[in-house]
Amino acid sequence: MTRTSKGLYADPRFPARLGSMGGEALAVHLSPEEAPNRWYNILADLPEPLPPPRDEEPGQPRLKMLGEVLLGECLRQENATDRWIPIPPEIQDLYLQAGRPHPLFRARRLERHLGTPAKLYYKSEFYSPTGSHKVNTALAQAWYAAAAGYERVTTETGAGQWGTALAYAASLVGLKTTVYWVRAVHDWKVERRNLMRLFGAEVHASPSPQTNVGRALLRENGNHPGSLGIAVSEGLEDARSDEKAVYCLGSVLNHVLLHQTVIGLETRRQLEMIGEYPDVVISCLGGGSNFGGFALPFLGDAIHGKEVRFIAAQSEAAPNLQGEYRYDHADHAELTPQLKMYTLGHRKEMHPIRGDGLRYHAAAPIISLLRHLGYIDTIAYPADEKYVFERARAFVQAEGFLPAPESAYSVACAIDEAVRCKETGERKVIAFNVSGHGFMDMEAYREILGL
Ligand SMILES: *Cc1c(COP(=O)(O)O)cnc(C)c1O
Repeated sequence: MTRTSKGLYADPRFPARLGSMGGEALAVHLSPEEAPNRWYNILADLPEPLPPPRDEEPGQPRLKMLGEVLLGECLRQENATDRWIPIPPEIQDLYLQAGRPHPLFRARRLERHLGTPAKLYYKSEFYSPTGSHKVNTALAQAWYAAAAGYERVTTETGAGQWGTALAYAASLVGLKTTVYWVRAVHDWKVERRNLMRLFGAEVHASPSPQTNVGRALLRENGNHPGSLGIAVSEGLEDARSDEKAVYCLGSVLNHVLLHQTVIGLETRRQLEMIGEYPDVVISCLGGGSNFGGFALPFLGDAIHGKEVRFIAAQSEAAPNLQGEYRYDHADHAELTPQLKMYTLGHRKEMHPIRGDGLRYHAAAPIISLLRHLGYIDTIAYPADEKYVFERARAFVQAEGFLPAPESAYSVACAIDEAVRCKETGERKVIAFNVSGHGFMDMEAYREILGL
């Protein structure tokens, strides 16, 4: 591979093919020196202030509790108004250790397969030690936790990627991890559970007998399938009862989206290097961290007048962006303050799906406000997931990368847009994020596609 002055890598083994592609880049790499050294904080650019968290109970016990269980630095970032927040050098090192920056690929083979005039670019968050974008915030939170003198982090996990990411990050900085994992997923993702344990984590199926919340739900139903909201409640309760422990969240909150902006900052720079800017920005959305991380730098441009279309791909099992925009709790047991979000209701029962990371009742306050202001479109795909996984299969066969079940929604949405461009003849630039890989989720592909 040779590096050109523009920072592109052309593969000298295929000069003819590159030529037949008009010399257009197939992959854009950033060197470590070109990696972002600050996160982008969209709070500085929002057209109107973000509605603050709310607690209607006298004395605001929930708001106080957040101050007790969350990391001080993350709470500060939650409300920070500076547009740019420097990434501590130690966290930049951890990002390098985790394999950042990640390349941006042009999906030439998929474009040809679809016969679309659109240009498709995808960000490779599947190049992650644990398989998902979640390491971007896990590494930051684990490092802040260690720096603040904590010995243990507790958390919830739905699809399992967040628990794995935090277990990985905590092990790198020398902390213990306790994970409460939604039982419906815990019980079938055996290998991912083993990976968390390999990183040294203690893993409990949620609801679990470890907490009051869990015990109460188990009394009602010994086989309770659990939900992300319930697991959040358990993780919080655990952290509150141990002063050496701190609670970490993998999505929804402002600081999580902030940490994830390295994805979009890299992508914007990579597109800039090849003289492109996206017409359409697409990613899947559960709580909003990968969508936010990928889209927020471009949303900042859109707020300042750029024409960009943003589409969040969801499941009909949890189409939270089509819910109501109102104050709601982030968890089942109402331990958290209320956040102004698009929500289906924090006690909503949602049908289990393979892309379980998308099964959350509400979308991040930042994303919700931007949707409320008309910046973000959404599409919800059928809960049987056949449509989505068929499109993921086309992506696998053309591009060779295996998306995580959640990322398959992003892929499906990008393919839909590309097919629409075929009908209209538009040569749109479509950028989409592949938030993770599916190597630990082959069971999902086997079941949905009948392999
Ligand atoms: C967790 C997860 C999601 C969904 O969560 P967001 O916070 O909406 O990003 C999507 N993709 C992957 C690979 C995940 O692990």
